Amino acid sequence: MTLLQVKDLAVEFSTAEGVVRAVKGVDFEVERGRTLGIVGESGSGKSVTSLAVMGLHRGAEVTGSVLFDGAELIGAPAETVRRLRGRRMAMIFQDALTALHPYFTIGDQIAEAHREHFGSSRKVAWARAVEVLGDVGIPEPARRAGEYPHQFSGGMRQRAMIALALSCEPELIIADEPTTALDVTVQAQVLDLLMKLKEERGLGLIMITHDLGVIARVADEVLVMYGGAAVEQAGCDAVFTDPRHPYTRGLLDSLPRLDAGDGEALHAIPGAPPSLLAPPPGCAFHPRCPVYAADPQAACTDARPPLRQVAPDGHRSACVHAEVTA
Ligand code: ADP
Ligand code: MG
Repeated sequence: MTLLQVKDLAVEFSTAEGVVRAVKGVDFEVERGRTLGIVGESGSGKSVTSLAVMGLHRGAEVTGSVLFDGAELIGAPAETVRRLRGRRMAMIFQDALTALHPYFTIGDQIAEAHREHFGSSRKVAWARAVEVLGDVGIPEPARRAGEYPHQFSGGMRQRAMIALALSCEPELIIADEPTTALDVTVQAQVLDLLMKLKEERGLGLIMITHDLGVIARVADEVLVMYGGAAVEQAGCDAVFTDPRHPYTRGLLDSLPRLDAGDGEALHAIPGAPPSLLAPPPGCAFHPRCPVYAADPQAACTDARPPLRQVAPDGHRSACVHAEVTA
C-alpha cells in the first residue's frame, strides 16, 4: 500500500479581499523509504499543501483526496487526524524556536508527546526522549534533555525537533524548509541526518524547500510548484538533466555552480511570483517566461495548461511548449 497518495488536493482561503486559491489541485505520492521534494519560490503553496495533508489548515476549504496508508483523511473526523499526527505522521518546521515551547525542557516536550500517543509512564517517556536525542546526534543526551530550547544552538535545536518528530516512530515525516535558517555546514549535517534516519527506518519523507540544491541532495521524486499549481513533476535526475518547464529551467539557472567560470553571473528569474487573489490568465508563469517572451502563444494565456506526460518515465510538465519524447 502506498504510504501517502494525494489526488487533486486544492486549498482555498476566503479573505476580505476575495478567495485565495493557494493550492490548485496537486497530485503526488510518497512511498516508504522514498523522498519527495517539493520546490518552488516563496508563496507557491508548499506549506499550505503540507499543512492540508496534516489536517492543520485552519480556516481553509480543502478538497481532493489524501490517502494515508489507504485511509482517507479529507473529511475524516478531526480526532482521527489528530491521533495520526505526531504519531504516524510528523512535521518538522523551519523555525524550531517557535515550534518548541520555550518554558519546557526539550526532554519534557519529547516525553510529553510519547505519553500522549502511547500512554507511557513518565519514566519510560523520559528514557525514550533521551534515546531519540542520542539518535539524532545530540551529545550527552541525558544531560541535554534537561535543558530548554534557548540553551540549544540553531543546529542542535533543529536536531531536537527531528527527535521530537521521531519519538513516536512515524512512518511519514514532512520537513518544511528544515534547514533554511541554518548555515551551510550545519544544513548539510541536518540533511544527512534526515537521510540516514529515512534509510534506517524506511520512512517516507517530504522535503519542502525553495532551494534546488537541497532537492539535489535528498529527493527521489520532485514536484515543482508555481502559483499554487504543479508545473513539473519527475524523478530527481530527470528534473536536473532534462527539465521540461521554463520555470524549472529558471530555478536551475539561478543555482550557484561549482563549474561556473569566474565572474559568471547567476541568473535570477526576473519579476515576482503571481498574486493568488488575481493570478495572470492562462499559465501563471507566462509574464516571467522567456519562452513566452520570445514567442507569445494564445495557448499560454487562454487557460491554465494542465500537467501532461512528456516522457515515458512519467515525466510531467504543464508547459504547452514542452517537448514530448517517446
Ligand atoms: P510557500 O510555503 O510556498 O512559501 P505558502 O504555502 O505558505 O507558500 O502560501 C501560499 C499562499 O497562500 C501565499 O500566497 C499565502 O499568502 C496564502 N495563504 C497562506 N495561508 C493563508 C491564510 N490563512 N489566509 C489567506 N491566505 C493564505
Ligand atoms: Mg512555506
